[in-house]
Amino acid sequence: MNRFVELTARQYEKNEPLSYMGYDVLLEELQKAITKNGGIIRLGKPVSELIVEADQVKGVVCAGERHEFDEVVLNVPPKELTKLLSYPSLADEFGEYVNQSAHYVFVYDIMLSKRLRGDIGNLLDLDGGFYINDYGLNNPASVPAGGQLINGLKFLTGQEQLDDSHAKGSQTAFEALLHKVYPGWEKYVVHKRMINRAMVNGIARRTYAKLLPLQSRAVRGLYLVGDSTQGSGSLGMPCYDSAKKVADLLS
Ligand SMILES: Cc1cc2nc3c(=O)[nH]c(=O)nc-3n(C[C@H](O)[C@H](O)[C@H](O)COP(=O)(O)OP(=O)(O)OC[C@H]3O[C@@H](n4cnc5c(N)ncnc54)[C@H](O)[C@@H]3O)c2cc1C
Repeated sequence: MNRFVELTARQYEKNEPLSYMGYDVLLEELQKAITKNGGIIRLGKPVSELIVEADQVKGVVCAGERHEFDEVVLNVPPKELTKLLSYPSLADEFGEYVNQSAHYVFVYDIMLSKRLRGDIGNLLDLDGGFYINDYGLNNPASVPAGGQLINGLKFLTGQEQLDDSHAKGSQTAFEALLHKVYPGWEKYVVHKRMINRAMVNGIARRTYAKLLPLQSRAVRGLYLVGDSTQGSGSLGMPCYDSAKKVADLLS
């Protein structure tokens, strides 16, 4: 976990969220650090149970196998956390946290066969609530030669986040912005990806939100990290902050 903090430290110290487009680089480095130090990563094998005895964590059940540990750090969104709360005092402790609303954005990514312009890395349209990122400028290997990958986000209002009824309007508004910034873009579309409600934070970070604590009061040896915790900052920042704080508690 210290390696994780070290890898994200530059962004962390600047108090700027790490671009989510760079996560693959971070994850590769993290994977190397874990395996080099004797750790094991079990991909595609969700934790289905948290083992607790006499208010002390004892391990987890993962893909039907029991793994014993004195300490467990959970990094799961609230919806998944709910499934791990079978121990009565944990259900009491976390029950009120897990039913809060999440924070969603509308995602619209477009791959173009031709690079239309390269002078805009990031664009924030405060009037429309849009954010555009020229992904290929950060990660050229992700785009075919001469092409352009534009990543778009729309920040949804509280009402728009409730369901998908905003989708058509969000798409139209986003395309109107694209016509202004990248005139003629529609002639070069190779692929489009739209996600009507992509989850940014498991618990929306509003002033009245009750964010998960980093350590359980009811069960010894149980820690929580991730974007729904009391880690500070916004977007991905609470993940790094909570990971650092829990790493400090454990070391
Ligand atoms: C479109 C979009 C753009 C974003 N852009 C940015 C950005 O530019 N900068 C930024 O800082 N942040 C950004 N964010 C926010 C950032 O991606 C999130 O805040 C961050 O990924 C949350 O990390 P996390 O580790 O808490 O949760 P997650 O990334 O959700 O990780 C939780 C993991 O737990 C796994 N899991 C769930 N249940 C179980 C289980 N039972 N057993 C085992 N594993 C389980 C899930 O598969 C998942 O991999 C963006 C989010 C979105 C949706």
